[in-house]
Amino acid sequence: MEYSKIILGKGKEFSLQRKHPWVFSGAISKKDNNLADGDIVEVYSQQNQFLGMGYFSNGGSISVRIISFEKTIIDEDFWFKKINKAWQYRLHLGILNERTNVCRLFFGEGDGVPGLILDYYDGHVVLQAHSWGVYMQKDNIVAAVKKILGTSLKSMYDKSAETLNKHHAEKTKNGFIVGELDSEIIVKENDHLFKIDFINGQKTGFFIDQRDNRKLLGDYSKGKNVLNTFCYTGGFSVYAAAAGAAMVHSVDSSQSAIDLCNKNIELNTVKNNESYAIDTFEFLKDKQNIYDVIVLDPPAFAKSRDSKHNAVIGYKRLNALAIKLIKPNGIIFTYSCSGVVDKYLFYNTITAAAIEAGRNVKVLHYMIQPADHPVTPYFAEGEYLKGMVLWVE
Ligand code: SAH
Repeated sequence: MEYSKIILGKGKEFSLQRKHPWVFSGAISKKDNNLADGDIVEVYSQQNQFLGMGYFSNGGSISVRIISFEKTIIDEDFWFKKINKAWQYRLHLGILNERTNVCRLFFGEGDGVPGLILDYYDGHVVLQAHSWGVYMQKDNIVAAVKKILGTSLKSMYDKSAETLNKHHAEKTKNGFIVGELDSEIIVKENDHLFKIDFINGQKTGFFIDQRDNRKLLGDYSKGKNVLNTFCYTGGFSVYAAAAGAAMVHSVDSSQSAIDLCNKNIELNTVKNNESYAIDTFEFLKDKQNIYDVIVLDPPAFAKSRDSKHNAVIGYKRLNALAIKLIKPNGIIFTYSCSGVVDKYLFYNTITAAAIEAGRNVKVLHYMIQPADHPVTPYFAEGEYLKGMVLWVE
């Protein structure tokens, strides 16, 4: 198989040699003029040393995303090996077990293919391609998943129309690529039940990345008044209520999120939850001295570098508000999922919020995303979820 070659400029090979998988357009010195979006290419240094293979993207600052640092053929067998490796890693770690049947099966760069997300919901798999180059490999990806999961694959749903750029999204349609749904999906996470609606829900239907952090919240919730802001499907609320919280308040500005949260509370036959479809800042206006534990898990305030500054202001405002109003000796679980706000910036922002609130704060835990959202030292940008648990005197 002959692939097009891309030659980098002098000295531009170092990041690929360190296994960082992105090639920026400015690093390229020579390429075939007929390259189309999504084409598989081989990347070479100026000295003609092979560096990696990936898919080409037209426009944008990243021109090639590497999917193999070895020379190979990108066929069904390649995808089988990639995805199977990710699957075996999760099985090996015991992420899926008798108590949990939901996990991220494939996490982009962390598993060696930028732009490919596969989420696993008890045999139902949701595919989100973030680049056209991945989308073009869809048939191979589906064949690989079928081979890996065998008869335990119940359905596969393509939800890429939301993650591809507009130009490409217009050429696709969300829908089932394997099987279909014959009943609603209810998954188990640490023995707690959650209804999954990946067709209408946000992202792929569930924020799988908070699994370990929800469990930790459970450890601090017994007998406490817990507030879960930005609750979406009520993941944190269910854990808190199940752990014996005296009272749980769940807040989300979206009514459909609140409906899902209520459904999940009902599924777990837990009590003491009240849900509010309202803006978090609005809700917090008159809530001084009520809560022992507060969860702050807002959507990404910064989606790009341009919005980083405003995002920091947003995190500071939200956290200062919570630090001010929590009861003495309260505990705050605070998160940021903005990729461009790295952990140091987030920690500093929380420090600034504590200073502004004027209360004594201790850090009980630093948290990151769980092992099914792997972070590699070669790709620090992959560490997008940061969290802290604070003790507020
Ligand atoms: N903590 C959740 C995930 C949060 S996703 C979990 O564990 O699953 C972010 C949520 O914030 C979304 O459901 C969105 O509807 C909600 N949201 C966004 N802006 C909001 C605001 N200003 N006030 C309240 N909720 C908001």
